[in-house]
Amino acid sequence: MTTDYDVIVIGGGGAGLTAALYAARAQLKTIIFEKDVIGGQISITDIVENFPGFPQGISGPEISALIEEQAKKSGAEIQFDEVEKIEPGEGAISVHVSGKELKSKAVILAMGAQSRKLNIPSETEFIGRGVSYCAVCDAPFFRNKTVAVIGGGDSAIQEAIYLTKFATKVYVVHRRDQLRASHVLQARAQKNEKIEFIWDSVVHEIKGKNVVETVVLKNKKDDSLNEVAVNGVFVFIGHDPSSQIVKNLVQCDESGYVKTDLNYATSVTGVFACGEIRSGATWQLVSSCGEGCSAALQAEKYLENFSE
Ligand code: NAP
Repeated sequence: MTTDYDVIVIGGGGAGLTAALYAARAQLKTIIFEKDVIGGQISITDIVENFPGFPQGISGPEISALIEEQAKKSGAEIQFDEVEKIEPGEGAISVHVSGKELKSKAVILAMGAQSRKLNIPSETEFIGRGVSYCAVCDAPFFRNKTVAVIGGGDSAIQEAIYLTKFATKVYVVHRRDQLRASHVLQARAQKNEKIEFIWDSVVHEIKGKNVVETVVLKNKKDDSLNEVAVNGVFVFIGHDPSSQIVKNLVQCDESGYVKTDLNYATSVTGVFACGEIRSGATWQLVSSCGEGCSAALQAEKYLENFSE
């Protein structure tokens, strides 16, 4: 049986790009399939301040473009297409992309995770009309305006701080009275005069004629409703794994993240996983890149004994 690729990487975020960079440098015929944008979460991150080697920080889009350039330079192909199905066979693995079946000796899952939604009807109604999941993409539309950021984790606080460069006022709405975000980010947000915290509250409804005009918040302690005038609602309440195409193939944890062993191998021979799709990942760009490297090295080792 002939194969099309030695390694197919699914997902072109930090983990996938680094996996492809290492696989291609090891002279393995490697392709990345990305259904959306290269860089994944980093492509929509304002500034990455904790990637070693960049003491002044580096913008998310800039570092993702650099890693992409490096992966391509090492020989990895990148194709913008959605993988529909993966089927293990005897030996090679079938990867179905846009109606075509490709055979690969190894597959590296690096599809990451997607922004979690509030799951209220008015959220969907106002997507693109004031509701956003990406401050870097949409903040300039809110110059001199008022916005609400929903969530209390690192993403919410980092993006709330970023939004203060544009908006005159940023409410941070959190469902508890304590943030989950790191102390560094918390301290920075608390010093920022444009940020006001609204504690113990969740979004009940988003209202407006054509665009967002108010957000109705429900206090979790006494169930009271509070309607706040805002022009935008930025939702940063965590992520869900992009594991739909593999959830019936490889073992996943109860939240749908892909389980691996210490060698980044999944429950299916020849299929590896790295980065934010992996159960137990630490959700840092540096560790996602590290996992991409390790998964590629393990795939290389696996291919040393591969027989077609
Ligand atoms: P996260 O840490 O899971 O935080 C999600 C936040 O949203 C939590 O505060 C959570 O509240 C809240 N939340 C969840 N579901 C909600 C709902 N239905 N309604 C209202 N609020 C809800 O997610 P994240 O902030 O996206 O971060 C993901 C990972 O990336 C983390 O490991 C984080 O450290 C990392 N990250 C790091 C950086 C950095 O290093 N600078 C930047 C961004 C992200 P509770 O607190 O009550 O659970």
